[in-house]
Amino acid sequence: RLRVGVLALQGDVREHVRVLTSLGADVDLVRRPEELSRVEGLVIPGGESSVIDKLSRAFGMQHPIREAIRSGLPVYGTCAGLILLADRITDGIEGQETFGGLDVTVRRNAFGSQVESFETDLDVPALGEPPVHAVFIRAPLVEEVGQGVEPLATLDDGRVVAVRSGSLLGTSFHPEVTGELRFHELFLDTVRAAAGRN
Ligand code: GLN
Repeated sequence: RLRVGVLALQGDVREHVRVLTSLGADVDLVRRPEELSRVEGLVIPGGESSVIDKLSRAFGMQHPIREAIRSGLPVYGTCAGLILLADRITDGIEGQETFGGLDVTVRRNAFGSQVESFETDLDVPALGEPPVHAVFIRAPLVEEVGQGVEPLATLDDGRVVAVRSGSLLGTSFHPEVTGELRFHELFLDTVRAAAGRN
């Protein structure tokens, strides 16, 4: 069985644990460097990116997570987790940092106050049919995509809301709250490949 972690500093940790467990993975809550070192992949949940950023620094996790990403650990970030994977963010709070790794620019709270939350069906060619029912909650948007970053899903107007780059995966929305399993399956495929398992 694959051993994967969910960064458990803040956010919708439990929902990710439930999905990953239902897909047959062993799931650890990760709050400390030694817990990080035991997992073969990491999920960064939705929540509040500035809080997860601050707590990760307070818990001495920023550096280990950056190192792990650099050495190829598969990481999947949803919403706040996507923000934390971005190399560049706009509309962050004063002093907000990210782990980075994804060569993208992400705008926090990109949908403004009027439509902070909405749901829509997204075509995701990499996942095939049926479309993904996506829930956006004060969601970020990927505004610039660097070389080597593959957009996986766009809104009708072409704005990018899911990306993949090497072993990193990020979505603006929350598959973990809708019973959508395919993004987590894609993540676990990456974990299996990176761990050299079949
Ligand atoms: N707006 C939040 C942030 O900046 C993200 C919201 C979410 O994860 N649902 O981190």
